[in-house]
Amino acid sequence: MDRIWKEMHDAAEAVLRPVRISEYVTAGEVSAAVLSKSGKIYTGVCIDTCSTLGICAERNAIFNMITNGEYEIDKLLCIPPNEGKGAPCGACRELMVQLMPENYKDIEIMLDYNSGKVTTLGKLTPEWWIDYD
Ligand SMILES: [Zn+2]
Repeated sequence: MDRIWKEMHDAAEAVLRPVRISEYVTAGEVSAAVLSKSGKIYTGVCIDTCSTLGICAERNAIFNMITNGEYEIDKLLCIPPNEGKGAPCGACRELMVQLMPENYKDIEIMLDYNSGKVTTLGKLTPEWWIDYD
């Protein structure tokens, strides 16, 4: 496995910190790391609230990247609960497609860190509602 995935995993693990903030808000049960095209790693945690005000860890990491003036994703890694595995949800995929409509298919996504299984957003989301081919 490429060493950068370990760096991304370490960065995501560093912010993985489940916390109950209030009666209505919990955070940090899932964390994510995004590698931007410039080679920087940005992290985010999930924020869960009443009435759907929260955000997935992946989108929080992407928003962190955007906040810091970067707009292109190279790789995405997520640490789900209980050492789990899985792909980004539809909302996170949609955000990545809208950010990079012409080359979103090249974004690499770690599906299972323990086995090193990587795919691309193009394989997960082969057709978009706007066709750029
Ligand atoms: Zn999501």
